[in-house]
Amino acid sequence: MSQRTPLIAGNWKMNGLVTDSIALARAIADGAVAECDLLVCPPAILIPPVVDALTNRTIAVGAQDCHFAESGAHTGDISAAMLRDAGCSHVILGHSERRADHGESDKLVCSKTVAAHAAQLVAIVCVGETLEERDSGKTLERIDMQLDGSLPDGVTGENTVIAYEPVWAIGTGRTPTPADVAEVHGHIRERVATRFDTGIAEAVRILYGGSMKPSNAAALLKIDGVDGGLIGGASLNAEDFLAIAASCP
Ligand code: PEP
Repeated sequence: MSQRTPLIAGNWKMNGLVTDSIALARAIADGAVAECDLLVCPPAILIPPVVDALTNRTIAVGAQDCHFAESGAHTGDISAAMLRDAGCSHVILGHSERRADHGESDKLVCSKTVAAHAAQLVAIVCVGETLEERDSGKTLERIDMQLDGSLPDGVTGENTVIAYEPVWAIGTGRTPTPADVAEVHGHIRERVATRFDTGIAEAVRILYGGSMKPSNAAALLKIDGVDGGLIGGASLNAEDFLAIAASCP
């Protein structure tokens, strides 16, 4: 049995306004279960009211991106230190939507991860193959490239979480088979062990993300090597998000 506490993280993406986000955060906090760590990642502008709403609650707040620089002439961007100052403990980096919409490379994700670590934020680094890559048998090759390029030196089980998110499973209702998820998670852990060490590989949490919902959460969360979930759509509904959390083994 793994010593890793499951993490159930909600990526709210570009959804919500102040009032409904506070209500969502409070509803999640009211139903929180002790079996797993809970994290919500609102859009940047909603972080302060959500942090406020969760004062004295056990739910962590994270961001969906940060800049790699500490400060400076980067119009529209937000630094890791600013997120930390606003009450964040985590930041999602290299999500496939950022890689696609903003052309984020592994090198850029790596520099953002360095910045997150320097600001004492836990980096949730996302990797995952496209459907074309899966269909052509290139899944593990793609994952290796993303891991090697996106993870900086200095990764530990405390400062980094890895999220395996097949691009074709995000928001589509489709999920890989349990065997496929187990294979990729096992592969990621081995890659981390080879690059860093086995202690770090044993400590680092590897989340599954992609169309996780109450009806499939238990089956996905019990797969060997799955240490929780990164949840998009279903994290916008407190009942669904809490049902997923309650499915943690
Ligand atoms: C995500 O975007 O990280 C995600 C997993 O989305 P969904 O749960 O909606 O597939």
